[in-house]
Amino acid sequence: MNRQKIILFFYLSHFLILTLGFSIQACQPSPIDESKPSLAITNVTVIDAHQGQLENMTVLIQENRILKVEKSEDLSPPESSTVINGQGKYLIPGLWDAHVHLTYDADITPAMFDLFLINGITSIRDTGGKIELVKPLKEEANNNPNTSPRVMISGPLIDGIPTVYDGNTPGRPELGVGVGTPDEARVLVRQLKNEGVDLLKAYEMLQPEVYQAVLEEAKVHGLPVTGHVPLSMDVVSASKAGLNSIEHMRNLEMSCTRDWSQLMEIRRKELANGKEETGGALRSRLHQLHRYQAIANQDPATRSEVLSALAENNTWLVPTLTILAARENRVWARPKWRADYKYLPDSVDLQWTTRSVGIADLPVDSLAVVFANWGYDMVSRLPDAGVKIMAGTDTPIAFLTPGFSLHEELRLLVKSGLTPLEVLEAATIRPAEYFNMEEELGTIEEGKLADLVLLKQNPLEDIRNSQSIDIVIKNGNLLNRETLAMMAKKLDDK
Ligand SMILES: [Zn+2]
Repeated sequence: MNRQKIILFFYLSHFLILTLGFSIQACQPSPIDESKPSLAITNVTVIDAHQGQLENMTVLIQENRILKVEKSEDLSPPESSTVINGQGKYLIPGLWDAHVHLTYDADITPAMFDLFLINGITSIRDTGGKIELVKPLKEEANNNPNTSPRVMISGPLIDGIPTVYDGNTPGRPELGVGVGTPDEARVLVRQLKNEGVDLLKAYEMLQPEVYQAVLEEAKVHGLPVTGHVPLSMDVVSASKAGLNSIEHMRNLEMSCTRDWSQLMEIRRKELANGKEETGGALRSRLHQLHRYQAIANQDPATRSEVLSALAENNTWLVPTLTILAARENRVWARPKWRADYKYLPDSVDLQWTTRSVGIADLPVDSLAVVFANWGYDMVSRLPDAGVKIMAGTDTPIAFLTPGFSLHEELRLLVKSGLTPLEVLEAATIRPAEYFNMEEELGTIEEGKLADLVLLKQNPLEDIRNSQSIDIVIKNGNLLNRETLAMMAKKLDDK
């Protein structure tokens, strides 16, 4: 009841803002420059997280901006406009995948930009890669804004010692940099700032005092910090220190038990004794040691306190159910999912197909089911707790094909209990807000950048309709049906 009231208030207040906005706008002279080309989508249903669903609208785009969003009966596009009839179709803001590793597999990297675009993903947040590898990709995207997704980068995982992604363990490429002291951490943060990163990623082996130094130095430079809560810390302390977001809800289960401080004590001893192990092995061992015990002992009162702390400190979650629930959801067991491997380079397609088919018939691990169900349940609690979320996937890890994986994440978020509109919010306006770009992106409003996706079916009726993509507009550039089909064909043919 309470939540319904909040939602009602939300819509009423936005209705008022919108009405007021229209009356102010009506007094302004038309900003349309008829001598320049423009693009009009007419008679379309506009859907975004702020306005809900607006029927019979015309959206007029010039250069890379949305110039007008008005009722079709009130706005006729200039004669020079390219007109797209949006009758019976649905226009949503360009999507974000907020958890991507562009450089996890060098063979896949060259295909990723196009895979995102053909899936309606116009912006991505890279959450970990060597700076010398991800920086050129960001520059490439900046230099070609009409034909690349927008790329936000964190640079490497800022990890402790031993380092999880050290490049010496199979399946763990060198995505991380190990720092052992607060001073080293500060130097690294300054270096990354100078390299032009958009955020930082703190990782699991950091010691609390080093983690603290990362957050303090990041604040000085105005950089948001995301992370996996370090194994040596509880979620509330990590959040209080100023963490902006938590990936995969990592280590959250631990902090939601009544006996979390005892578990933490054991964990700290294990960390101190584990210096001889590789970072990857030590981390996995500690997860196995505590995760299922913690899930069995979730304490509702403690969980409420933890979620309140996240809401209060404005620490967001990026659940990445695609990876959290991977071994329960098992995308690789679906022939339809495997069919899309054809868009990856041949060597990757072959390798993924062989490995996927090899594990497709294995029985489902019961612990994986326990963990997945914990994840779905936790996500269902977030809206009422006031914890904000973003949609991200961890592609291309775990057979998560770039682009396609975001639609799978949207589906899993709805499966967990979010409304389709809440899920669209997590994939559009939230990531824009995360980077203070909400004036530029994330909704379909006058003055914003024209990153848009036209759908053939209504995503609010069934979130899987987010894949019924007709056209994509990136930075005002029209990628029509033929262009998208050509891009897909090129990836398929190689
Ligand atoms: Zn990741």
